[in-house]
Amino acid sequence: MKIHTKAVHAGDRGKPGAQIPTATPIHTATSYFYETMEQLDRVFADEEKGYCYARYDNPSAAALETLLASLEGGDVALACASGMAALHTAIVAGLTDRRRSIVAANAMYGATVGLLMNVFEPSGVEVTFADVCDLEALRAAVARAKPGCIVMESISNPLLRVGAVDAVAAIAAEAGAALIVDNTFASPLLLRPLELGAMYSVHSVSKYLAGHGDVLGGAVMCKQEQGDALRALGRTIGPVLGPFECYLTMRGIKTFPLRMERQCANANLVAERLAVHPRVERVYFTGDAAHPDAETIRRQFPAGQTGAMIGFEIRDAARAEIFRFMDALQMIVRSTSLGDVHTMMLYPTMSSHRELSPKHRQRMGIRDNLVRLSVGIEAPEDILADLEQALGSL
Ligand SMILES: *Cc1c(COP(=O)(O)O)cnc(C)c1O
Repeated sequence: MKIHTKAVHAGDRGKPGAQIPTATPIHTATSYFYETMEQLDRVFADEEKGYCYARYDNPSAAALETLLASLEGGDVALACASGMAALHTAIVAGLTDRRRSIVAANAMYGATVGLLMNVFEPSGVEVTFADVCDLEALRAAVARAKPGCIVMESISNPLLRVGAVDAVAAIAAEAGAALIVDNTFASPLLLRPLELGAMYSVHSVSKYLAGHGDVLGGAVMCKQEQGDALRALGRTIGPVLGPFECYLTMRGIKTFPLRMERQCANANLVAERLAVHPRVERVYFTGDAAHPDAETIRRQFPAGQTGAMIGFEIRDAARAEIFRFMDALQMIVRSTSLGDVHTMMLYPTMSSHRELSPKHRQRMGIRDNLVRLSVGIEAPEDILADLEQALGSL
C-alpha cells in the first residue's frame, strides 16, 4: 500500500466487531472494567488482548501507533508527549546494555544538543559530536568514542545537510551501536530510516505529521526486535501521548502526504526565487543542484521532493535588520515551529539555537543573518509576494 493510502486507513480498523467507527474515538479512560479477576490476570499477562491502564496502552494511542509504524515501515511505535520526550526515550532505549557513549551529528536541533549536553553528559554518558556527512570523519569519531548510540537528523537543522542513513547505519552496525534518526524534517514521505538500517526513527509529530500547529507530540518507531523493550520503557518512564492529542494527530496525518507534496512543490518555487534575489546572500535548500549532499539527496529522496525547509542569509543584515525584515512580513507567521499548513519564519540565533553560545553557533555555521523558512500549503504566489515585499522594505 502506498503512503497516501496508509495515511487515510492505517490504525482505524484495529478493533474487530460489528461496528467499527470510521474515525477512532478519543478514549479518555485511564482504566477498565473486567468481568472477572481471571480475565484481568490474563490481560496483565498479555495472554488476552485488552487494555489495563493508560500509561501502558490506550485505544486512541494504539490506533495512532499502528498508523505511525505503518508510515515509517516499522513494526512498533510509541507515541510520546513531545518530540523531546521521544528523543529522550529512544536514546535511553539505545543505550540500554550498550556502552554509555554517544556520537551525535554536529548540526542538530538546539534542544537535542541541550538534551545530550545537559541531561545525558552529566549522568555519565560521554558525548562526542561528528560530521555525519563526512563518513571518514564519522568512522574516526566512532573508532575513538566506541559509542552505544549514534544520533543524527535526516535533514539537519537549520543548515539542511543530509547524511547517508544507509552508510551511517552500516558504521553503527559494525560498531555495535544503535542508530537513532530524528526524521522530523524529512518526514516518512521522503525518507523511512528504518528501511535504511536505522534502529529507531524519531519524530516530533508536532511538525509535518500533525501539521496544523495545534498538537505537541512525538513518536519513536522501530522493528519488532526492539519493540518489546521500547514499549516496556514507555510503560516505566511514562512519556506517553494523551488521547486528545492522539486523536488530533491521527486526524492531521490523513492529509499529511498531500500537504507535504504541496509544501515541497512550493518550497522548490520559493528557493528558486530567493536564489536570484539581490538582497539574499545565500540560500540553503535540499533541492539545490549544488547542495553539498546532492548525491545522497538524489539517492534517498523522491525526485522533486526534497523537503519544505529553506534557510537563507540576508545580505549585510545583522540582528536589527533581521527584526525589521521579519516584522514586515504580513502573511508569513513569525514563529518558532515548522511543518504547519501556514508558512512560518524563524530566526535561529534567537529561537531554535538560542541556548547555544555564539561560539557554538559559529562553529555550526549559523550566522546572525540567517533565517529559516518553513514553507506552507498556501498559493505560492502569495508566499513569494510577502517575501518580496518584506525584502523590499530593507
Ligand atoms: C521540534 C523538533 C524537535 C522537538 O520536538 P517537540 O515536539 O518540540 O518536543 C526535535 N527535533 C527536531 C528536528 C524538531 O524540529
